Amino acid sequence: MKIGKQFNTLNTSEYIHYIDNYKKYTDFNTLGLYRSICENDKLNLADKIQIRDYANKVFEKTFNFYQLKDPLTYFNLISLGEEMTVADESKVWDDIKKNQEKILTDKKIKHRNFGDYSKHNCGYDDCRYKGLMIRQGSALAEGSMHFNSDKDSFGATNKSKRVKKQRKNISKIINDELDDLIL
Ligand SMILES: [Zn+2]
Repeated sequence: MKIGKQFNTLNTSEYIHYIDNYKKYTDFNTLGLYRSICENDKLNLADKIQIRDYANKVFEKTFNFYQLKDPLTYFNLISLGEEMTVADESKVWDDIKKNQEKILTDKKIKHRNFGDYSKHNCGYDDCRYKGLMIRQGSALAEGSMHFNSDKDSFGATNKSKRVKKQRKNISKIINDELDDLIL
C-alpha cells in the first residue's frame, strides 16, 4: 500500500493513522514524516507537539539518531513550543554535539565511513554550530550560514519564507547517506 500524498498535507488524525500503520505503507519515510511536522501549515503548535511526541513513542531510536543525521530537523522538533534564550539554545546544541559523538562511538562507525562529514569550524569561537558534525560541502560545513542573530529562525513561529527555504535546502543536502548504517 502507498500513502501517495505528501506528509505536509496531512492533518493530525491522518498522521496518527500512518504512524500506527507505517509497516503497511511501502512509501512511509520516517525522516520525511519528522521533517514535515514543522513545515505543515495545517497544524497548529499543539498539533505539532502531539504528533512529534506520538511519533517518538514509535521511532524514538531513529529520532535520536537524527542528531547526527539531520541535526537541524532534530533541533527544530525538540524546540517546538519552547521559549528558549540564546543560552538555552546553545545548551541544546552542545548536547546535540555530545550525543553525536556518543552515537558514533556506540555504533562503532569508523571515521572512514564518516568521511563525508566533518565538524563545523567557521572560525567564530562563539558559533553555536562549532564542533557540530555536518556533511562536507553543505552550507553549515562551509560556515556560510549563521542564525545567531536571527533568533526566530528556528522557532515555531515567525518563520520567513527565506529561512524556510534555506532550511529545506539544508535538509536536502544532509541527505540519507547514513541510512545504510542504521535500521
Ligand atoms: Zn559557525
